[in-house]
Amino acid sequence: MKKDSKIYIAGHRGMVGSAIHRHLVGLGFANFIFRTSAELDLRDQRAVNEFFEIERPDYVFLAAAKVGGILANNNYRADFIYQNIMIEANVIHAAYATGVEKLLFLGSSCIYPKMAPQPMTEDCLLTGLLEHTNEPYAIAKIAGIKMCDAYRDQYGCNFISVMPTNLYGPNDNYDLQNAHVLPSLIRKFHEAKLNNEPAVTVWGTGSPRREFLHADDLAAACCYLMEHYNEAGLVNIGTGVDVTIAELAMEIKEVVGYEGAVVYDHTKPDGTPRKLMDVSKLSKLGWTYKIALREGLEKVYSAYGKVKSE
Ligand code: GDP
Repeated sequence: MKKDSKIYIAGHRGMVGSAIHRHLVGLGFANFIFRTSAELDLRDQRAVNEFFEIERPDYVFLAAAKVGGILANNNYRADFIYQNIMIEANVIHAAYATGVEKLLFLGSSCIYPKMAPQPMTEDCLLTGLLEHTNEPYAIAKIAGIKMCDAYRDQYGCNFISVMPTNLYGPNDNYDLQNAHVLPSLIRKFHEAKLNNEPAVTVWGTGSPRREFLHADDLAAACCYLMEHYNEAGLVNIGTGVDVTIAELAMEIKEVVGYEGAVVYDHTKPDGTPRKLMDVSKLSKLGWTYKIALREGLEKVYSAYGKVKSE
């Protein structure tokens, strides 16, 4: 990318898109195009085609998606598959039709089979059944990966796919019903501390294992791959380190400074037992994460605590 290349970040107000924007600004890029979802509905094919015809971006980061935690994915199954497939199909096709130089598509670690060998390498894609709770979202994301590869095969488009692990960071969703575990637990422990509640309820058994990456690290990896990776297939982006949900809860309890008890609600689903990324492909390409979980938790909690006490 040249410093004056025209860059479209789809989803620039979300956690991932905003982190990519901050990172690119830090590297000296300045020629961005943004559209909020109110200005451009990415599910609307005609609107997307018109936008690409007029703006003709050189580079596209496709970070727009309908996302959510385990309950949101499970409760809004139709919305997750429909909206994500529409966004991907419209943006990827318009990028091809208007000669975009390069596109980076963001997927998710839930595209891998529920019982994939751990840590999960890129080649375990489509080798087994998916986790039921987020199957519609995963199918949409797999369609996005396959679209990038198909447009590369048939039309020579330089479209790449990256699969981030569970993310957290600025502009995360803290809504208790729809959020992912890390922001939900930050909020639950913070509110329990303020209200002197005797216990915090953690969903499931606490035994599933999850890997967490700070959005600033993800953004750095995406920008690195935009510069250095030009192949079919996908690249995992993670730390290669995971913790149990119970361990995560203990870390957050400490960071927040909550002194009450932790109880487990076994009526809530555990989801996939483990989804640890194998990050050796990314390491070989020359990129490693910087922000360890404890440091990242302190960063996000300090920002969250500030907003909530204002
Ligand atoms: P997943 O990675 O797709 O399963 O999505 P989540 O981040 O929503 O959930 C990860 C794990 O954390 C699951 O086993 C959840 O049951 C568990 N968990 C524990 N407490 C919570 C909570 O308060 N909110 C959410 N979303 N998950 C929780």
